[in-house]
This record gives sequence, structure tokens and C-alpha cells, in this order.
Amino acid sequence: MKITRIEVLHSKEPTILPIPWRAAWRGPKATPITSFEFSFYKVYTDEGLVGYGPNTGYADLGGLIGADPCYVEAFFDQHMSGRRSGNSGRGGAGIEIAMWDILGKAAGLPIHKLLGAMTDRVLVYAATSRLMEPEETAEHIEHIAELGFRAAKLRLHRPDPWDDVEVVEAVRDVVDDDFMILVDANQNNVGEGYTFWSRRTAQRIAQALDDLDVYYLEEPLPRQDIEGLADIAASVDMFIAGGEHTPTVYDFCEHLQRGAYDIIQPDVILGGNYGITGVRRAAILADYYGRLIVPHVMSGAHFPLGIAASLHVMASVENCPVLEFGFDPPILTAETTQKVLKTPFMVEEDGCVPVPQGAGLGVELDEEQLEVVTSFEG
Ligand SMILES: [Mg+2]
Repeated sequence: MKITRIEVLHSKEPTILPIPWRAAWRGPKATPITSFEFSFYKVYTDEGLVGYGPNTGYADLGGLIGADPCYVEAFFDQHMSGRRSGNSGRGGAGIEIAMWDILGKAAGLPIHKLLGAMTDRVLVYAATSRLMEPEETAEHIEHIAELGFRAAKLRLHRPDPWDDVEVVEAVRDVVDDDFMILVDANQNNVGEGYTFWSRRTAQRIAQALDDLDVYYLEEPLPRQDIEGLADIAASVDMFIAGGEHTPTVYDFCEHLQRGAYDIIQPDVILGGNYGITGVRRAAILADYYGRLIVPHVMSGAHFPLGIAASLHVMASVENCPVLEFGFDPPILTAETTQKVLKTPFMVEEDGCVPVPQGAGLGVELDEEQLEVVTSFEG
């Protein structure tokens, strides 16, 4: 099989958000996001199969014409991170995902079955994105729970971290005991006016959250502070999670060896180095150390194919307890982040999202909303 043509498809019109989006991880002085635009790769082959991937800015699309899309491992090794951080930053993930889509279509199987399936349903958590007052947050999470979610993630990033704890207390009071509360301190992000925690603060806040039966605390310290993270992880029952900015699979080794992360969080798209191959390898690496994986999944324009690829790869491993699902109405909803999908992903009564059963990624884009902005062919 050979790649004969690659198109970049882009939204004809931006998706306007109902209210401006002030995401907690962007810092208090960042300009709010008011719209976003979808962008995808459409990869054609000489056998008539067509694969789709998110546009991750791969530098040499023209150079892929004539390549065999079956050689996913070779592409991962030579054009993505492989074993070497030095090869990072080339944005190959979107192409790698399109290659898996083609492979699945060639085999007549959804990707999770091609990989060797573990399950057909994946538990997801509603990843909220904003800082709101305790009462408002509690009502918001109650509403999310009514929609079927059995888990939700809150943002911790108020100027006084004890105000963050108050928000978690308010939510704990209104949800069932078995509802999973996850929290993200986003201490690996930067932004003007951003508040950073010292090791001591992180330790004290972690203790308070542990007492509130929080399932995991994400990024209480920057990922480089392996010693500080390991100290916190050793001192609480709650899991310590992190690693959405970790450049390659192999950069997780030290965190796992030294006990800095109980849960690792690579992303199929973010940074462009993982794709399905890299996240699956990360899951296997974590399993070797008896640890878990809860992949980061980007919200916004990368969500449709990011969640599709993540569902498939996590349905093929046994150490993923829950998966990120950006949901924060009225901003992050099926009408906004999944507008371009003919059938949006929806959470069902048990808090799970069914893994698509169609061949490849098993999703269909509404190409009426998209236009070809660039194309390459042999
Ligand atoms: Mg995070």
C-alpha cells in the first residue's frame, strides 16, 4: 500500500463559544478564548482507503507521498520520538493516528481490536476547566453527575490554595461516596500572574485532599521536581498523577523508578510525539512498574480525533482506570468540541463511553464543515 495524496482540511467557519473561555491553566492575565477551528489530515492510498488524523503540524507532508502507511513502528521510530528526545517536536502524531485509521480499515477492525482489545467501554471523567466559587462548582458537578458522569476533575489554581480545598469540600458534600473526584494543580504550566506552590504548600494541600478522599492529585509540582513529587506520593494514599508535557515515553522512566508518579499522563496528540504507538508503550512501561495510566486528552479543536484515538488505545490495556473527557458546559460540550463529528461521543449511564466499533478510528467527520487548504500528491 502507498500514500498517494495528503490533504489538510480546515473548518470553513470558526466554532464560536457561547461564553469566553478562561481556562485555569492559562493564567489569570491570559486573553480568553472565544472560538476555535478544526484542522485534520486526510491521507489517501492507492488501495482506495482513506485515513484521518488531527493536524499536528507535521513538517514534511510532501515527503510522505509514496510511503507505506502499514509501517507505523518505522514512522514512530524515525519521525516521532522513538527512543530519542532529540527527534521530538516534529509533530508526527497526527500522521501516525491516520496510519492506524488506514490499518484498521484495511483489516476491517476498530483499532482497539487490531491492538488486541481489553474492553469495549472506557470509564471517563468530565474534565472541567475553570475556577468557580465553591457553591457554583458544587452545582456544576451535580449537574455533570446527573448526565451520567461518575468522575470529574476540578482545577486548583486560586491565589490562596486553601480556597481550592474549600471547593473540593463543597463538591464532596454533594456527590455520592463512589463519585471519583480528581484535581489538577497544573503546576507544570506557566502564565503571567500564575501562582506556584512550594514543596511545603504542595505537601500540606495534598494531605488535606487525601482526607477528602480525592482519587488523584495531578501536577502538585513541576515534573522536573522528581524528589518533591516522590515525597508527596509516598506520604498520601491518594494517587499522584502527571506528565502531560513529558516529551517522550522514555522520559517517564525516572519518574516511575523513583516513585514520582503513581499515574502517568501522556497525550496521543500534545507535543506530537506519542500517537497511539507511544501512549500504548507508555501504558506497558507503567504496568511494568505496577503503575497506572490516565492519558491527557486535549480539549477544543483536537478533541474529536484525540478522544477517538485515546479510547481505542486505552481499551487495549488493563491499567487505565479512567480517561480524560473535556466536558465543561456551556463551553466544552458535544455542540462545540465535537461539532465536526457526525456521531459525537456521549457518556452513558455507567459513566463509560463506548469504544467505536467501525473500522479504524470508527468516526466520521462532517466534511461539509471543512475545506481543503493544502494538498500534496505524487
Ligand atoms: Mg493536567
